[in-house]
Amino acid sequence: MSSRPVLFPALLCAALLAGCSAAPGAPSGGGSAQRTLFAMDTLMNLQITGPQAQEALEAAVGELGRLDRLLDRNEPESDISRLNAHAGDGTFVTLDGSTLELLELCRSCYETSGGAFDCTIAPVMDAWGFGGTGEDYHVPSQAELDVLLPLVDSAALDVDAGMGSARLTASGMAVDLGGIAKGYAADRLLDLLEDYEVDSALLDLGTSTIAALGERDGGGPWRIALRDPSDGERQLGVLALSGQALSTSGGYERQFEENGVTYHHILDPRTGYPAETGVLSVTVVGESAAVADAWSTALFVLGPEEAEALWRGSDSFDYILCRADGQVQVTEGLEDSFTFWGDEYGYTCEILRR
Ligand code: ADP
Ligand code: MG
Repeated sequence: MSSRPVLFPALLCAALLAGCSAAPGAPSGGGSAQRTLFAMDTLMNLQITGPQAQEALEAAVGELGRLDRLLDRNEPESDISRLNAHAGDGTFVTLDGSTLELLELCRSCYETSGGAFDCTIAPVMDAWGFGGTGEDYHVPSQAELDVLLPLVDSAALDVDAGMGSARLTASGMAVDLGGIAKGYAADRLLDLLEDYEVDSALLDLGTSTIAALGERDGGGPWRIALRDPSDGERQLGVLALSGQALSTSGGYERQFEENGVTYHHILDPRTGYPAETGVLSVTVVGESAAVADAWSTALFVLGPEEAEALWRGSDSFDYILCRADGQVQVTEGLEDSFTFWGDEYGYTCEILRR
């Protein structure tokens, strides 16, 4: 059993490539500020440069805490816990504007992904023990999944933005924002930084969600190492990022083994089982970190062929998809910004063109 095995090496690697030498938590002067903190169940690292860098950093940390308190379904007073607690009783639960905005985005990602991204996955996450602390991982029985799967249905999530409230229409339903909350938080931080004349920033919300603004110290875009999904000590390549965000989904982030079979935490809402589509990891790049986050989860669930079809029908994202057969597919929008290193480890790289 392993959980989040590579967070630190990848984080350090990203920092190194970004030309950052500050120790975690060290104060920095000269118009730049940096902090490592734990939020949304992961280790985050924020670096900001600009005349009001310190103020911007404090505001960003405050906003992360606020969003965490609203969106954490394991926090009894959070918006999401209150929404879940009223599932099926008819009550429209009054929610913060940010929570409503995010739930509306979840609904639209559900629709555009054909149901592959479904934030009402919580009951099935819990059946696997993925919703808790990681001490209770197990394979649920098919009978249990058969009862729970009808509860996974974002169409039964009513969001009434005008009234400032939402409800889950069936008893037993529950929302889990693990597949999008960090991306949404990154977008909110980018909005907030606009008020602070920020020159550049790297917002690393747990390595799998990173937003970059402006240029790194010394000039040029930020450089983000993408890990080899099969080995956290190695990198598939490096991605130049500026004015965009990336999100990576990989089965390696949370997994356990039972009877010699490995099960991971990205579930196919159709089967209730971990998605097995021959994808080891997928990194999505786009303007919106929330959309990139939702798409990385959805493309992982859908697999290479459907991922490619969706990309062809959209101009809002590009991706790097690492297949279990060793092929790394890169959509043409990233051709110039991605430097492939995977040939050293037996991977081959293919550019997908429109
Ligand atoms: P990471 O673990 O790096 O955040 P993801 O963005 O792919 O990776 O998020 C996985 C999380 O998304 C799971 O832990 C769970 O909370 C949630 N999730 C799992 N399957 C789905 C799905 N099909 N649709 C929406 N959310 C999902
Ligand atoms: Mg995601």
